[in-house]
Amino acid sequence: MEAPIGEILISEEKIKEKVAQLGKEISRDYKGKIPILVNILKGGIIFLSDLVRELEILHEIDFMSVSSYDSQTESTGVVRILADLSINIEGKDVIIVEDIVDSGLTLDYIKHILLARHPKSLRICTLLDKRARREVEVPLDYVGFEIPDEFVIGYGLDYMQKYRNLPYVAVLRVNG
Ligand code: 5GP
Repeated sequence: MEAPIGEILISEEKIKEKVAQLGKEISRDYKGKIPILVNILKGGIIFLSDLVRELEILHEIDFMSVSSYDSQTESTGVVRILADLSINIEGKDVIIVEDIVDSGLTLDYIKHILLARHPKSLRICTLLDKRARREVEVPLDYVGFEIPDEFVIGYGLDYMQKYRNLPYVAVLRVNG
């Protein structure tokens, strides 16, 4: 079966440049602090692993797994916590690291859960922002790219759990 890879929206080179830039910004903003980067599995792992290698400050990482999509391309509106953090974030500087913000429902949910644990600060970093699809307004502190309303794959983002390894972000090609 032919891979459903459509137009390449963001090249490997552009991603690399942007991740380096975000790493510099975060390093500057958190100078002298030790933020905890909370990664939302699974889509965000590639972004996180590249991002932390661009950081020039001490930091910790932790993971959370939630599900808002069930191997489909449409939101079910249901957000479930599949796995929780292992670190106590009370009094800590936390940065949520997301692959993509679409409706914003997932992030809004996670944000409220984390705020209830009283971190010292909470910011959000996302590689991709599908702004046109937003249903809940969630302020984003660090954004890599704003993208159009297309279902995308690659650089951690999947289609039916596959294609996360593509080094670029491409549009999912349907019907063929
Ligand atoms: P939201 O709750 O903002 O609608 O959705 C957030 C989650 O939906 C993302 O973390 C991601 O897992 C998934 N998602 C949203 N848009 C896309 C997309 O274009 N491609 C892929 N692969 N996943 C997406």
